[in-house]
Amino acid sequence: MRKPLFVGNWKMNLTGPEATELTKKLTLAVGDLGNVEVAIAPAFTSLRPVSSIISASSMGLAAQNLHAEDKGAFTGEISGAMLAELRVKYVIVGHSERRRAFNETDVMVNLKIEAALRNNIVPIVCLGEKGEERLARKTLTVVRKQLNALLEGIPLEQSAKIVIAYEPVWAIGTGHNATPDQAQEVHKYLRDRLTKRYSKEIADQIRIIYGGSVRADNIYDLMMESDVDGALVGSSSRDSEQFAAICSYRHMNKAEA
Ligand code: PEP
Repeated sequence: MRKPLFVGNWKMNLTGPEATELTKKLTLAVGDLGNVEVAIAPAFTSLRPVSSIISASSMGLAAQNLHAEDKGAFTGEISGAMLAELRVKYVIVGHSERRRAFNETDVMVNLKIEAALRNNIVPIVCLGEKGEERLARKTLTVVRKQLNALLEGIPLEQSAKIVIAYEPVWAIGTGHNATPDQAQEVHKYLRDRLTKRYSKEIADQIRIIYGGSVRADNIYDLMMESDVDGALVGSSSRDSEQFAAICSYRHMNKAEA
């Protein structure tokens, strides 16, 4: 019922020519996977060239951030209205790197979710616990608080299109992914909370994707969990063969990648 979604987050990597080259390789390697949705999130400066390369493919364009206002005196920022002009379909909000390096809070991210929805862009809402919180067995409490704050005031009629990305902070860029059981426990818990907040029908439509050291050699087992609906992929998304294998949950040994 939920179409799996795979999003490549290139972060602050790749110059314009490098992004163009990788996008061309990706369109060939990923091809048209009718049963899954694939999107890539280049840096702002590469959105336009990437947008034109993927326009003939089934791949979607994602941005890595947006400002909560549509315009105004916010030097250096990019608004949802500007992203919509470039045919941006998704925007990542609340990534742990933005929380850590730019002091973004759940309240700020909540406003960004509203801005994305106002501009018809699907927010990919990141949340997840830190390593010490998992060790202290606070994972579910932490993600519950985050979910409540992030979705505060988001109306029922907008809710089904939101994507939630469970990204345990300790798994991002570390090579240590959550086990399928760990991911499933949190995803199921989040879906139950979404059922309470909205309805079972809505919760069953919301995609909850996993992020944190996803590779072609671990995606299959993660995707076998009933509440894992895809992945937000960092470093493995900058290797066209690896990302293509992830999107088709095809196993590749690290040596092949
Ligand atoms: C990310 O940055 O969202 C991420 C999941 O990174 P990585 O896949 O490199 O852990």
